Amino acid sequence: MNKWENNIRRVVPYVPGEQPVGDRLIKLNTNENPYPPAPGVLRALQEMDYHRFRKYPDPAASVLVESLAEYHQVGADQVFVGVGSDDVLAMAFLTFFNSGKPVLFPDVSYSFYKVWAELFGIPYETPALDGDFRICTEDYKRENGGVIFPNPNAPTGLFMPLDQVRKILDGNEDVIVIVDEAYIDFGGVSALELLSEYENLLVVRTFSKSRSMAGIRIGYGVGSPRLIRALNDVKYSYNSYTMNMPSLALGVAAVKDQAYFEATTGRIMATRQQAKVRLRELGFSFPDSMANFIFASHKRVFAEQIFEALKKEQIYVRYFKQPRLENHLRITIGTDEEMERLYKFLGEYLG
Ligand code: PMP
Repeated sequence: MNKWENNIRRVVPYVPGEQPVGDRLIKLNTNENPYPPAPGVLRALQEMDYHRFRKYPDPAASVLVESLAEYHQVGADQVFVGVGSDDVLAMAFLTFFNSGKPVLFPDVSYSFYKVWAELFGIPYETPALDGDFRICTEDYKRENGGVIFPNPNAPTGLFMPLDQVRKILDGNEDVIVIVDEAYIDFGGVSALELLSEYENLLVVRTFSKSRSMAGIRIGYGVGSPRLIRALNDVKYSYNSYTMNMPSLALGVAAVKDQAYFEATTGRIMATRQQAKVRLRELGFSFPDSMANFIFASHKRVFAEQIFEALKKEQIYVRYFKQPRLENHLRITIGTDEEMERLYKFLGEYLG
């Protein structure tokens, strides 16, 4: 080993889901939306003037910030945009979890939280979900340096009603509480309505799931002007131009089409309802999902075995080889046709 290698930061990175390519494959492994983005997004793409790319984009991302502020009926000084919600969350860890006290998040939740905490040297504790994979709000009453949890939770899909979210907020007036609402548009109730009561609440959203734009990378946070100002200070200390010109224009176009958004999220929710019935018939059980995925385990056959068999069939789902999760498959809700192919294979394989 060379001496200079001692200078290298050692980290255990987050492992994203596979991105296999092929015509025949069915991709139900990274919670993408099976429908295309809103038609206005294509028009905006076609109308894009490439000469403009010569210049830097607007560092404040104003057009997108303003359209999101209007959409959520908040001030433009209450919105922060980033390169996917991963970017917003990373900035939020760096900005808000700065006390030296442990940040709290559930033991089973988005596995990137732990990675950011390690990267930024933020201490953390992970209170265990209960036997039904639910968050125990009592666990978040101890002294801490901040709280973050997804709602609905990932990878369980369980939604925590707002009265419980409120309990966590009420027990944490002195720290910042982040609610990661990556999957809120599939039937949950957003904590955005609590913003007027809690200045220390940041709600984080993404265009990757409900707006079918995972490839474009847009996420945002909504909170009090004081929180947003602090986030921007850190962003401008790191990279002024996070949002490129195409993503700003395409993001604005997506927000405009409310009817399309409602139609596609509605279809996914209907397919999810059907998936609950069909998967149950096939011998699976799962927490009651409010997200665009189902976290299922089979009564007889071990999850890893089903995962491998599906992969051979070119049907990709997500498998986490981790304590508490290792007998579950996280199955993204696809189109009805994709789901039919999944049920058909599972029926033959498990039958
Ligand atoms: N939060 C949760 C809970 C997620 O599951 C994901 C998706 N991996 C993200 C945030 C990040 O999504 P994106 O960066 O695509 O907005």
